[in-house]
Amino acid sequence: MKYYSTNKKAPVATLEKAVVKGLAEDRGLYMPERIKPLPASFFENIEQLSFQEIAYTVADAFFGEDVDAESLKKIVYDTLSFDCPVVRVTDQIYSLELFHGPTLAFKDVGARFMARLLQYFINAKNSDDQGLVNVLVATSGDTGSAVANGFLGVDGIHVYVLYPKGKVSPIQECQFTTLGQNITAVEVDGVFDDCQALVKNAFMDEELNQHMKLTSANSINVARFLPQAFYYFNAYARMKEALGSSAIDNLVMCVPSGNFGNICSALFGRKMGLPIRRFIAANNANDIFYHYLLTGKYEPKASKQTIANAMDVGDPSNFARIYDLHQGNYEEIVSYISGATYTDEQIRKIMKDCFNKTGYILDPHGACGFRALSEQLLPGEVGVFCETAHPAKFKDTVEAVIQSEVAIPDRLAAFMRGTKQSISLSKDFAEFKSFLMKR
Ligand SMILES: *Cc1c(COP(=O)(O)O)cnc(C)c1O
Repeated sequence: MKYYSTNKKAPVATLEKAVVKGLAEDRGLYMPERIKPLPASFFENIEQLSFQEIAYTVADAFFGEDVDAESLKKIVYDTLSFDCPVVRVTDQIYSLELFHGPTLAFKDVGARFMARLLQYFINAKNSDDQGLVNVLVATSGDTGSAVANGFLGVDGIHVYVLYPKGKVSPIQECQFTTLGQNITAVEVDGVFDDCQALVKNAFMDEELNQHMKLTSANSINVARFLPQAFYYFNAYARMKEALGSSAIDNLVMCVPSGNFGNICSALFGRKMGLPIRRFIAANNANDIFYHYLLTGKYEPKASKQTIANAMDVGDPSNFARIYDLHQGNYEEIVSYISGATYTDEQIRKIMKDCFNKTGYILDPHGACGFRALSEQLLPGEVGVFCETAHPAKFKDTVEAVIQSEVAIPDRLAAFMRGTKQSISLSKDFAEFKSFLMKR
């Protein structure tokens, strides 16, 4: 399968190139040139299949031409070492819990898959080309932990996580600074944009690229983005299992969205035949997509800080993919996708109401999804929203709202007990470069 750029000004790429490079030469996002529909028989019996079996079928449709069956199966099964269950919250609304992975957020799925696919490509190379591949990632919090944990212990790969000193919450920080092994945390005396600039400069520096193999693992990478479709197919199967075939003709999927990678993978799923009637993209106060749906105009803005901070995105990258998927046809997009936008006050209110009425603890991101379904579901529809992170990741915010304690899962507590190890650097590229040149 070949991958083309959403900007259409770069040559098509192989899967390997798309994974290693991340972004096309024309700064566009890679798209698979075909989206293979899955047969009706797959959906007829889907409730009898396990999550891993379903995921392998979906993975095969995307990657089966480029990765042999046995290896792909192993990559999928290793990636999904945890479940993504669907849990009933009210009669009409279910939570797709995506926080059962190592760092308690949905990004674990894509990061784990990408690490294993990259390792597959490294191993497939002949033996005299076995140099270490170095992954550089800049993070403002959650991406770093998902990538670091996704690659942890994966042979042939070393990960450098650059994060802004004092700008990352202690819970986030411990999830990538306590790992050791093939993970190095670099604490940069600067802001997130400085970290990102260091990474970009490193990719452009010829001497450095001759010295070591560098690659990125950002969220627009096809190997991080496409595997997210797995859990939408599984959610459909588990809902069908729970409610019976007739009850799920009116399934509405609601995705709390920031960079729009997660919802975009669900839209790919629909193109493959997944019977979801319609979608809701729930935003926090960063309402660029919401406005696009209202007006047909895409107008990026500076991002605003909110309590659902993983969705604080003012120019969502994957808009380019959603646009391309529909050939820019606005009518088609609004025919089955609607939006929602919520202030921090509205997010807090729904967290409190939901907890008081149902006992279910929402995190601030999932809360946007739950609220959008509560407001927009029609009689006869059943809604599933993505609970994209565990509420304990936002313990202080959540506890202040619900006035009740949020238990910390063991795997998060284990990170918090670990010893912080990180290298301190300034935001000066020359210093970062000489650090890498000595490695
Ligand atoms: C990254 C993230 C989001 C936003 O997902 P996108 O794919 O960027 O739309 C939502 N919630 C949480 C907890 C996240 O970490």
